[in-house]
Amino acid sequence: MITTALIVRAVSLVLLALGVALGVFRAAHPIQDTRETLYVFGTLVEIEILDTDKDTAQAALVDVGQMLQRLHRDWHAWRPGMLSDLNEAIALGETGAVNDQLATILRRGALFDCQSDGLFNPAIGTLVGLWGFHADSPPQGAPPADTAIQPLVAAQPRMADLEISDNRIGSANAAVQLDLGGFAKGAALDMARGALAAWGIRDAVLNAGGGVEVMGSHDSRPWRVAIRDPFAWGAVAAVSLKPGEVLHTSGNYERFFDHNGQRFSHILDPRTGYPVEGIVSVSVLDTDGARADAAATALSVAGPSEWPQIAADMGITSALMIADDGAMMATPAMIARLAPPAEDATLEVQPVALPAPRANDCAVP
Ligand code: AMP
Ligand code: MG
Repeated sequence: MITTALIVRAVSLVLLALGVALGVFRAAHPIQDTRETLYVFGTLVEIEILDTDKDTAQAALVDVGQMLQRLHRDWHAWRPGMLSDLNEAIALGETGAVNDQLATILRRGALFDCQSDGLFNPAIGTLVGLWGFHADSPPQGAPPADTAIQPLVAAQPRMADLEISDNRIGSANAAVQLDLGGFAKGAALDMARGALAAWGIRDAVLNAGGGVEVMGSHDSRPWRVAIRDPFAWGAVAAVSLKPGEVLHTSGNYERFFDHNGQRFSHILDPRTGYPVEGIVSVSVLDTDGARADAAATALSVAGPSEWPQIAADMGITSALMIADDGAMMATPAMIARLAPPAEDATLEVQPVALPAPRANDCAVP
């Protein structure tokens, strides 16, 4: 006869066996990990998905890969596509049709242009092209003549010139030529995170040359990201990203050209028409990738003295700047998140308090 005691004993033995089996399984496969590297936006984009079955992760990666390829085509500054069609229309004084995604990034670009007082200005495409950065490989030879630069500065193209009415866009200023290179990567990674979330993915990291965006907490170990040393191979600091955070770095070492011993950065100061000087990199920690990417570019233009005000005006609290003499400056909120790159390394960062933001009437148009 089977007694209650026997049943309880049998059930607990099964549970014990199951528990051991699960324990062994978890030890052998701590977390399901699927990785993929894509070549988009002129860079390698690595995506790592955790804690998701392989089939779902693979299907999500195909979906996100196709989306990123499409955004790359639609938002390209110099190859034929939706943005170059719009640029042609603007140059002719006409309007062009765009899809919702392009309209959205342009609206946000107008906000960041306004908040940064024009230091982040995605309307200076003609100037970026004149400096030779509308090409896959770095420009060669001499910089452009000042007589070619000055008329482009004087024409004052700004995002506020855009007339955005739903999906038709025109410009009051025919000198506007759109180049989204300063924040396309951040905006695209934000959209990729949204697409992964729609597949039910909760834990992932997306890494695209200078931009890292995370979802979830990497099981229970935070995603640790290194901030590259602009002067040598290695890192100057590390940051552990919390769920939903992003870190975007803009550096004049990423794309540049050298002429007669002088280095010309691909980040241009719209006020002068010349490449920025005095800084080597700016990193911004935030939860909004488009804003962090735009701000890293804007703070690079602002330079060592002006950057705290522009960060405050853009709503950024965590930023690190490395000047060209190697000095590191960061906001207190950023310093609280920085760790030395290795156990035996030291970290010397000068704290820079943020001023109050200046009043403005900037809004998404
Ligand atoms: P990033 O690496 O994010 O700083 O972006 C640099 C890219 O943004 C350049 O290659 C240009 O395409 C574009 N760009 C350059 N200067 C500016 C600027 N002042 N505002 C907005 N975009 C810019
Ligand atoms: Mg940027």
